[in-house]
Amino acid sequence: MADCIFCRIVKKEIPSRIIYEDKKFMAFLDINPANKGHTLVITKGHYELFSDIPTELLGDFFTISQKITKAVVKATSAEGYNLFINNKKAAGQIVPHVHFHILPRFNEDGIKFNWPNRKYEENEAEIYLKKIKDAIK
Ligand code: 5GP
Ligand code: ZN
Repeated sequence: MADCIFCRIVKKEIPSRIIYEDKKFMAFLDINPANKGHTLVITKGHYELFSDIPTELLGDFFTISQKITKAVVKATSAEGYNLFINNKKAAGQIVPHVHFHILPRFNEDGIKFNWPNRKYEENEAEIYLKKIKDAIK
């Protein structure tokens, strides 16, 4: 993907502060950190979504992400961390190249993930339960 900003980071056409790199993955500092040390872990191959990552890459992607998470927490003396992937515009994805956010957290950092507490109508939870279970391949 020639015009993908993260593909350009992989190719070193755009500079980034690289924390880790191997043949298939890269981790670098987020340019606009929510907290200092906010890190992104990417596959070098261009996949838009978590659900697009080939199964054979997933194990190593998680292993590397855990290793980098431990390093970020240790280096920032974080009191907690969020690990998340935004998928598609509806979920807040801006860069359409899959990336784990590793966000170091502190007790009083004031960051809030403000989602509503919706209620299921009668029987609706059972319908969602069945639909999702039936959709597992
Ligand atoms: P998204 O909303 O797609 O999950 O997050 C994209 C993230 O990439 C944002 O946190 C943003 O600050 C970061 N980002 C966007 N462009 C660049 C860039 O050129 N370099 C780096 N290091 N981070 C970037
Ligand atoms: Zn890309």
